Amino acid sequence: MNKFISTVVLTSICAFAFAANDKKIELGKYEGLKYSANDVPAAVEAGAKPKNIILLIGDGMGSGAFNATSLYIHGENGKLFMEQLPVKGMLKTRSLNSGVTDSAAAATAMATGNKVNNSNIGGRTVKSEEGTNFVPLKSYATLSNEKGKAIAIITSDSIAGATPSAFFAHKPSRHDFGGILTDLMDCKFDVVLGGNNTLKWLRNKDNAAVVAKIADTHVITEGMSEFEAAPADKKVIAHLDSKFLDKETSVAEFMNASIARVEKNPNGFFMMVECCYPDKGGHGNDPSKTVLGTIHMDIAVKAAVDFANKNKDTLVIVTADHETGSISASSRDDKEMTITYNSGSHSAANVPVYAFGPGAELFAGEIDNTVLAKNIASLLGVELEILK
Ligand SMILES: [Zn+2]
Repeated sequence: MNKFISTVVLTSICAFAFAANDKKIELGKYEGLKYSANDVPAAVEAGAKPKNIILLIGDGMGSGAFNATSLYIHGENGKLFMEQLPVKGMLKTRSLNSGVTDSAAAATAMATGNKVNNSNIGGRTVKSEEGTNFVPLKSYATLSNEKGKAIAIITSDSIAGATPSAFFAHKPSRHDFGGILTDLMDCKFDVVLGGNNTLKWLRNKDNAAVVAKIADTHVITEGMSEFEAAPADKKVIAHLDSKFLDKETSVAEFMNASIARVEKNPNGFFMMVECCYPDKGGHGNDPSKTVLGTIHMDIAVKAAVDFANKNKDTLVIVTADHETGSISASSRDDKEMTITYNSGSHSAANVPVYAFGPGAELFAGEIDNTVLAKNIASLLGVELEILK
């Protein structure tokens, strides 16, 4: 087991993290979100049903990432904005075939309500005497889209990444990049947005027939200005470059631009917002990525709550698919903190859930990731297919 200890000197202008491999990592550019007590929302009455749901998923954003970031920005634990939401719970994350899930099985559980094997996207591989087959499972996003709700699936990862694709694609393996993108042909979501590494595949002439079919329903855009300029009556497959995605406010910005497109639907919307950076921080034992990714989420959650305060029928849920890096963070005194990575992979730890708005009470306490999906489906008024 590799173990990297990073000491972060807490000064307001220039903070550095020293990893055990002597790699010096500058964190000073990350200011994080400052907020006032007035910004913290009060609990709403239980039993109400939301018209809009915003589900924010920090990939790999476990308790250690929260603590590291809160200590870094605020000097103590539990001070991130998202940690102030009125309903708090913990999510169980195991997959069908492993105590330690991957993002594919976790996202499929959170989107379809079914435990599946690691690497399965939007369905389950089932082995029997007749052989192996793959049972596709529709997400509540697809089911409620069929009933007229607007849907946005947006991420700082690739559109073909495990978390977003579990909401629209059905493939035995998360590594079937082309197969996952081919499933966009059947996707009627209003916005599918991610990094730009899928553009090469979409522009390859071998895939022209798939892209022509996608173009029946969607425009394909590159960059924020093209996305924002896409006609309001068009559905969009949007791509953003990594320079934009590195910004502290990037997730909040592409979320707000997506809300502007879907909020006009009289039936309301469901939106899944993913930030992939905490997972990269955990795998790479990189405190910059861990802290930046958690800041991405904190700023985006504040923006989602601002929208929910103006649109009272909006539920905001923030959680993670799993923990990455077995991170612990502690403060030695008010000038120094230590971030310790006890591994470079996912762990079996439960992950925090925070919620605000109508229906938030359903996400309190210790719940399974499949129960999170079942609760969202019931709030959306759709019925998931649940395999035995
Ligand atoms: Zn990961």
